[in-house]
Amino acid sequence: MPQFPYAEVAVDAPVRDVRTFTYSVPEGMSVSLGQMVQVPFGLRMADGVIFRLSSSTAIDPVRPINASDPAGALLSQEQLDIAAWIAGYYMASLYSAISLMLPPGFRSRTKAYLEKPAEEALQELDDEFAARLLQQFKGRTGLAQESLLRRALGAEGSRILDGLVSRGVVRRTWKWRGSKIPDSATIDSEPSQASEPFLIPSPHQAEALTSINSAISQDRHEAFLLQGVTGSGKTEVYLQALARCLESGRKAILLVPEISLTPQMLQRFRARFPGRVAVIHSRLSQPEHRRMWWGVHQGQFDVVIGSRSALFAPLRPLGLVVLDEEHEWNYKQQDMEPRYHARTVAMRMAQASKAVLVLGSATPDVVTYHRALTGRRLRLLQMPYRIGLSSSMAGVRIVDMSQELRDGNRSIFSRALQDGLRRVMDEGNQAILFLNRRGAAGIVQCRDCGHVMKCRSCDTPLTYHTSPERLVCHQCNRRSRTVARCPSCRLNRIRHLGLGTQTVVKELEALLPGVSSLRWDRDAADEIGHDAILERFASGEAQVLVGTQMVARGLHIPSVTLVGAVLADIGLHLPDFRAGERIFQLLCQVAGRAGRGPGQGTALVQTYSPRHYGVVLASEQDYASFYEQEAVFRRVQRMPPYARLLRLIYTHFDPGRSQREAERLGRLLRKERSDWAMTEVDVLGPAPAYNSRIRGRYRWHVLLRGQEPRLLLDKVLDKVALRDGWVVDVDPVTVL
Ligand code: ADP
Ligand code: ZN
Repeated sequence: MPQFPYAEVAVDAPVRDVRTFTYSVPEGMSVSLGQMVQVPFGLRMADGVIFRLSSSTAIDPVRPINASDPAGALLSQEQLDIAAWIAGYYMASLYSAISLMLPPGFRSRTKAYLEKPAEEALQELDDEFAARLLQQFKGRTGLAQESLLRRALGAEGSRILDGLVSRGVVRRTWKWRGSKIPDSATIDSEPSQASEPFLIPSPHQAEALTSINSAISQDRHEAFLLQGVTGSGKTEVYLQALARCLESGRKAILLVPEISLTPQMLQRFRARFPGRVAVIHSRLSQPEHRRMWWGVHQGQFDVVIGSRSALFAPLRPLGLVVLDEEHEWNYKQQDMEPRYHARTVAMRMAQASKAVLVLGSATPDVVTYHRALTGRRLRLLQMPYRIGLSSSMAGVRIVDMSQELRDGNRSIFSRALQDGLRRVMDEGNQAILFLNRRGAAGIVQCRDCGHVMKCRSCDTPLTYHTSPERLVCHQCNRRSRTVARCPSCRLNRIRHLGLGTQTVVKELEALLPGVSSLRWDRDAADEIGHDAILERFASGEAQVLVGTQMVARGLHIPSVTLVGAVLADIGLHLPDFRAGERIFQLLCQVAGRAGRGPGQGTALVQTYSPRHYGVVLASEQDYASFYEQEAVFRRVQRMPPYARLLRLIYTHFDPGRSQREAERLGRLLRKERSDWAMTEVDVLGPAPAYNSRIRGRYRWHVLLRGQEPRLLLDKVLDKVALRDGWVVDVDPVTVL
């Protein structure tokens, strides 16, 4: 009898809580913590990870583990602990949290062999089942995938197959897909060139580095918020802290928002640490992803750069985690479980492995900044000035677009922006025009009856796109043909309202005939790729770059002397408590793109809300004042950082059902709230979400707000489980 005949397995199955299932360890099989196994689950085989081993169980009968990964444990105790924490905090299944840490594409696949000629083997079976099985085995030389066999046999599948196996008619084998270390992972793919020298730190950089490096040298956990305006040299600080971390024999992770994974950034890191930098993000092909992952696992790389999932790369021992642009929303996984925030998890991981965490931003998340100010395990380091030649920030000017209209200018470009663009052309410099919406028109509407064209499955107004001409839903990406006639009143008086990046290009070409422009938004990137667009602009092939927030981030091109935000108002009036913060951050970044070279840069912000504090303070690049105003607003509204949010979203194809289910949960929550006198937690809603239907599903939500909103939800969950269709979003970054 082995010492631990039972194992608690985290199973790949849709369970909502941090639950494991008990299995017995068969004679002769040895399993260890963190090892992948395959287990029977209901009628199927499922993948799982050994989460705990035990000497006894109260469960009877216990089913045995079917197979185990011959490579042994894949995950460490430390990783299992983090996964359990993620699952618990974000109310996700344990396996979904664990799968963040598994090699890309890793899963088991069972096959079944016939041990005897088919007709003989299956003669004891019911004719019908025998026929179905034969069909699966035919032409496959007596070999079939177990999942297909089960499907062919229906509900009886498990019983019949188990019977065949025990009579020695069928033999099962299994393989772990994706577990083999790709050959290329062991070869160094980058030429090792001499590394680029480090720059001599400015006084502010030196100060920041002293604090960060002393923590690294002492193997002491500490977290820093490095707030520095664009161009203040944050990246250089990351590079030098990284170097210190590697000297001390530990490794480092640098997270960047997906969008700023520009070749420029990578090149800077690879030049400093030749041959030691791995890249992991969602746009990698699967073979490339696997090569990187296993390369890291084999200890080939010391630095991992990537988007949020790179946080889980198998890098050990971990000495430093950096989150660049820590305020970016895509650090939160929103579309699937676990809905974790990379910043929160990074903090946890850094604490657990005594590593140093550096959060960098010019415009920190209001919640992060609040935390640094109130001294809660986050130390503020500031770098208020630009470095060297480009030492002055761009001069930013707000242009009131309603005044332009009153003065008879109906163009989308104000007179100031027109003059600026002409000057850029004359002087042979470059300009960037920013607009936070792609396409050619935001709304397609009938002039007569007012009908607005909406997506059939989302209730979102469709956006008009040219070349090719079509209507696109920006929510679900459904495309449809343009219409000449109103589908509601049948008159052909359709008009296109509002701007998109395509409109900007068209208007620009009308304004400055012969101008060479380039568009950088998701459509263009899908077509020719981010890198190609960036390269073409950097090489001077185009004079004006027109784009969405992609142009706002991380671009560093010295010959850009003018930046125009064509319409700053988009998104400003959305019913989301972070709308102001978002506009402020975006506009600050846009302004930061200008004047990175020797010349003085200009940024023009066109808006119909010239007195909105987010717009005004962004134009002054005044984070401290913005924070003060925003903090007052948040305190009055009782929003983060003054309270935590927990959002519950229910989606269903039937609108009535969606509403009823949300109302049912709302009643339960209110009842528990009053029964337990939990008046500290507010129950907001239920109400239809702002995006009231996405991909055909009607969305209702309930918001819990308080210091510990989870306590109230747990009271309800003690009594009833949440139905399928509910999504729990802990610390949501948006409530739309
Ligand atoms: P940030 O990340 O804050 O936007 P960067 O690190 O990209 O700033 O620095 C902006 C520019 O200043 C870069 O061209 C960089 O090479 C340069 N730079 C940074 N630190 C120094 C330094 N100590 N000495 C000289 N140039 C520097
Ligand atoms: Zn849609």
